[in-house]
Amino acid sequence: MFTIKNHLQIENSHLTIGGVDSVELIEQYGSPLYVTNEERLRANFRRYKDAFPDANLYYAAKANANFTILRIMADEGAGADVFSDGELYMALLAGIPKEKVLFNGNSKSDHELLMAVKTGVRVSLDSLDELKTLSTIAKNEGAVVDISFRVNPDVSPDTHPKISTGLRTSKFGVPHDEVVHAYKKALDLPGVNPVGIHCHIGSQILDITPFAEAMTKMMDLVEQVSRLGAELEFVDVGSGLGIPYEKGVKVPTPQDLADLILPIFNERCKAGGISPKLILEPGRYVAADSTVLLTTVNTMKEAEKKFVGVDAGFNLMIRPAMYDSYQHIVVANKADAPAKNIYTIAGPICETGDILAHDRELPQIEKGDIIAVLDAGAYGFSMSSQYNGRVRCAEVLVNDGEVDVIRKRETYDDLLANQILPARFL
Ligand SMILES: *Cc1c(COP(=O)(O)O)cnc(C)c1O
Repeated sequence: MFTIKNHLQIENSHLTIGGVDSVELIEQYGSPLYVTNEERLRANFRRYKDAFPDANLYYAAKANANFTILRIMADEGAGADVFSDGELYMALLAGIPKEKVLFNGNSKSDHELLMAVKTGVRVSLDSLDELKTLSTIAKNEGAVVDISFRVNPDVSPDTHPKISTGLRTSKFGVPHDEVVHAYKKALDLPGVNPVGIHCHIGSQILDITPFAEAMTKMMDLVEQVSRLGAELEFVDVGSGLGIPYEKGVKVPTPQDLADLILPIFNERCKAGGISPKLILEPGRYVAADSTVLLTTVNTMKEAEKKFVGVDAGFNLMIRPAMYDSYQHIVVANKADAPAKNIYTIAGPICETGDILAHDRELPQIEKGDIIAVLDAGAYGFSMSSQYNGRVRCAEVLVNDGEVDVIRKRETYDDLLANQILPARFL
């Protein structure tokens, strides 16, 4: 037995996950297939919790909102960062207590705000306009909603521009210099009760120094807002810790992040004589490396490059196409074979950009081989689509040799679900 990465091992030349042979998984459940290791998911969450024992962790549902995964998070004591009515619905149904749900979003509909009021979750507001809307909705319902503002802290982490969310020009959050004014307004309005402050600077961040800058800026604001008479119960600094998609890159751990930001937080709380709860919202760190996407080789082509045509593309894993991201590739049925050639792994979607991996040194590949896309648990299935008339694949959960199907493969009927052919075409 040989460990590839964390919980992934090789037995009899096959990649195994959670003690289950990936090749047998494909034989039994079909291809493509998402495979999540429950133990790894829980271990990731606990490692984060160990680094921040006094903080609340709100799992970012958008990373992977599979219902079973949300239930596992609820079981671990996580709260949830939700970004839509649907995520709110699923998180509450999965058993995450409403007191530990923060409803985020830069453009929530009135319907979504009403749902927040009715379910009694906290709302992170993104603008003064949204503050007015929520105040009116809550007042009409005779309710008072606990709110925070999402602050745009104007810091620039070194990550892909599409996942940098705290730049001055970003669509997210209340501009840094308008935040105090926003709290003043909130204190005056009925139906809203400012109890927290929130930011989130981006995702897949590997240099953690911007987190210190953001924490300092947040605590400056906490001080100013406290002077207005608002008693802040929580300071939510979002998430964004990166993971090592590429072998050999050194990445910061949750403990490194804690060592950097907790002293700032604790010192500023002490100096201000306040004791708000710290909240963090990990998504990628918890979910990403718990999961592999298995996909089968349909066809080989020697052209300008050696193309490997597989049965999963950006319909199931959009990160490489959308963020130019690297996903590590293993030939699951030849997991310990030596590298032989340089291959480009192409999905079946009718788009030039549908490439899962460029120019990788891999063992000799042939039709029928199984390709494993590692670290596929965050922003993988949750960003999937039916583009090109492709049904979404199944998802299984493995745990210590046991396998459960946690989502069935879609059928052709699912492609037509909710479509209505007008009677005149019958
Ligand atoms: C996406 C998001 C997160 C999760 O970020 P990760 O980098 O996946 O940990 C947390 N908070 C908010 C507000 C988000 O939008």
